Amino acid sequence: MTRCRLCGSAELASVVDLGATPPCELFLTRERLDEPELTYPLHLRVCTSCWLAQLPPLIQPEETFTEYAYFSSFSTSWVEHAREFVEAAVDRFAPGFVVEVASNDGYLLQHVAGRGVRCLGIEPSANVGQAARDKGIPTRTAFLDPETGAAVRAEHGPADLVVANNVYAHIPDVVGFTQGLRALVADDGWVSIEVQHLLTLVELNQYDTIYHEHFQYYTVAAARRALATGGLALVDVELLPTHGGSIRLWARPEEAGGEPTERVADVLAREKGAGLDELAGYAEFAARVAKVRRDLLRFLIDAAEAGKTVAGYGAPGKGNTLLNHCGIREDLLAYTVDRNPYKHGRFTPGTRIPILPPERLAEDRPDYVLVLPWNLREELTEQLSYVREWGGQLVFPIPSLEIVP
Ligand SMILES: [Zn+2]
Repeated sequence: MTRCRLCGSAELASVVDLGATPPCELFLTRERLDEPELTYPLHLRVCTSCWLAQLPPLIQPEETFTEYAYFSSFSTSWVEHAREFVEAAVDRFAPGFVVEVASNDGYLLQHVAGRGVRCLGIEPSANVGQAARDKGIPTRTAFLDPETGAAVRAEHGPADLVVANNVYAHIPDVVGFTQGLRALVADDGWVSIEVQHLLTLVELNQYDTIYHEHFQYYTVAAARRALATGGLALVDVELLPTHGGSIRLWARPEEAGGEPTERVADVLAREKGAGLDELAGYAEFAARVAKVRRDLLRFLIDAAEAGKTVAGYGAPGKGNTLLNHCGIREDLLAYTVDRNPYKHGRFTPGTRIPILPPERLAEDRPDYVLVLPWNLREELTEQLSYVREWGGQLVFPIPSLEIVP
């Protein structure tokens, strides 16, 4: 990567170099264990001109998303999050037509259709989009770019509300994608985008959310610049707890824009206070990441030498950044468990730790359970309360190692 994908500057400064890892969603079958495994450098840099943090596009989304294993409806809390959003948005804007980009299996648009509002999904994964169509949600199989945006507008008319959740980090052509959003939205319409917030990533050491599928990491300041490349103006922002800290950006076509809210100014001031528009804000991050690794390894090595058993909970994509970066293998983490049956009998990429059904925890009664999806801490502490029955303890690696009695 020689130039910033947003502003074209050649001045990209290193934020953290996590070595080389395989794609984090490429869970291995037993047969694949004897085959070579490709790894890609995982080195986060930030543009010192527009302050967009970014990874080079080493793996194209077409390789990952054409046949995808992730169905949003698996997560009940995520479906509920979408329902609340739709209720509020329909009440506020009374839209006549809603388009969702990266609409997955219709987890969000089902609520729009339920309110009697016309809708359309745009989803690149054929198998996931089919699941939406099976629910009666009209879905077009495509990646969003300016041409797709214009074609949808010509065929269906402009959208009063365009929703793009958890996709703005996943597209290497951020400018083309943003122009696509502008093509979709009516001249007096609204665009709503949810994406992880770089401020919480840096402040809370959430470095495992850095992986190849996330091409860029946004402050509100950088997101505002990205939106402007497509002719969209940022008018409001909400801070959300999802994914450990996300932002919901509200944008409108520039001509309809108007003054940004007080909330935009507040978040911009917090980002500036954290130094994220200068190198100082990033300077300590790599050292804190190294400490997370040392603390976790020290805990696992001590546990192994004391004859204690450790199992993992969850096999999320981000867990694989953590496991690979720390070099954790089966001798330190015997296995992990996950609720997604697709992953059972498979192995984590790179580190090759077996993934088993969750029932295994109660059978084996491990002394420690290392929770990999730490962002669901509250939900999982409750769900895993049975671990205490045999004196087991939950371990959270991030923001810093914590063993909960
Ligand atoms: Zn830049």
